[in-house]
Amino acid sequence: MKELIILKMGEVVLKGLNRDNFENTLLKNARRRLEDLGEFKVYRSQSTAYCEPLSDDCDMDEAFARLCKVFGFVALARCAVVEKDMAKILEAAGDYLAPQLGAARTFKVNAKRSDKGFPKKSPEICADVGEYLLEKFPHLKVDVIEPQVTVTVEIRDFGAYIHADAVKGAGGLPVGTSKKALLLLSGGIDSPVAGHMTAKRGVFLSAVYFETPPYTGAAAKEKVVSLAKTLKPWCGAINLFTISLTKVQEALYANCREEYFTLLLRRFMMRCAAELAKREDCLALVTGESVGQVASQTIPALAVTNDAAGGLPVLRPLIGLDKEEIIVRSRQIGAFDISILPYEDCCAMFTPKHPKTNPSLADVLEEETKIDVAALTQEAMATLEKIPL
Ligand code: ATP
Ligand code: MG
Repeated sequence: MKELIILKMGEVVLKGLNRDNFENTLLKNARRRLEDLGEFKVYRSQSTAYCEPLSDDCDMDEAFARLCKVFGFVALARCAVVEKDMAKILEAAGDYLAPQLGAARTFKVNAKRSDKGFPKKSPEICADVGEYLLEKFPHLKVDVIEPQVTVTVEIRDFGAYIHADAVKGAGGLPVGTSKKALLLLSGGIDSPVAGHMTAKRGVFLSAVYFETPPYTGAAAKEKVVSLAKTLKPWCGAINLFTISLTKVQEALYANCREEYFTLLLRRFMMRCAAELAKREDCLALVTGESVGQVASQTIPALAVTNDAAGGLPVLRPLIGLDKEEIIVRSRQIGAFDISILPYEDCCAMFTPKHPKTNPSLADVLEEETKIDVAALTQEAMATLEKIPL
């Protein structure tokens, strides 16, 4: 039996004159994610996309799993496709959905007829299919309110499509339709989630990790590489960079007051990120900060951090989320188990005992007169490396 995946497009269909651009990007992203799985034809008609295997060796399970992570699709279903002929539809419903119907106690049938030339109307299709399935699976009962399985028959342009319940898609907008941003990716729980949420709105990401060897080791870097790889199925290709802030950290340690260490270091991260963003054509920075989570994330501290971002917008998608909510999302995207692996944080050994929670920009700037900010920034940028994923 011929099988394919139907994919409902979400917000893209509301995009007016830009709709074609959004839909083409979405299909291109879908094709790219399937590249190594065999030959598939991915096309669209009205607000639905179709993914059709062109050979027998296509891995449909994996294709479905990957498409569930493509931003822009709101629902997906694997379905059998047959001719628009009632006998064939009945047979396909019974055979193709046997695993689901065999395991269920209740079901209902839902019919959609976008091809108005089909001789039976939707209620008649439902009645015929329901009757056939009740006979074939005598243990089943019809429950139109809360069925365990909903059998859907769609009569469309190219054939009749039969499927069980659709699965929720990743939602959002196709990556690449909202320009590009640079994610500050640490090994923690928050920043991968921030990256995921930003990509969900169609933003293409590059990422940067600030290391401080030998205070942070290879394991910490490996962890960030793993996190970036975890993001790829959603975000597509990600350019991952590392920059060493060792010299910066040592200069701060030698010259500045301890309670300012974290803030001053975060300002260097912003400066370097802004510089890299320019080179990578990124129009914004993204961080995993959330108001009040730690001393460096109070509103006054965020203001001080922003001041060093070179005028770029700093996107903080987690700003209003509690840690518990962030953890739920981290688990959903498969990052949590990597994020909680033990590692030495960039700032851990230079963490002040009493960090400034209510810093003034004037005091911070005064503190920065004790070091050569421009030279240290350039020295850090000279350590820039691109890490293959
Ligand atoms: P996370 O869980 O993402 O590490 P956090 O709660 O540990 O965040 P901070 O250490 O204050 O908070 O970092 C706030 C944000 O700054 C991070 O979410 C990340 O975007 C960025 N950041 C912090 N450290 C680094 C680093 N070493 N490399 C890149 N970005 C970093
Ligand atoms: Mg951190």
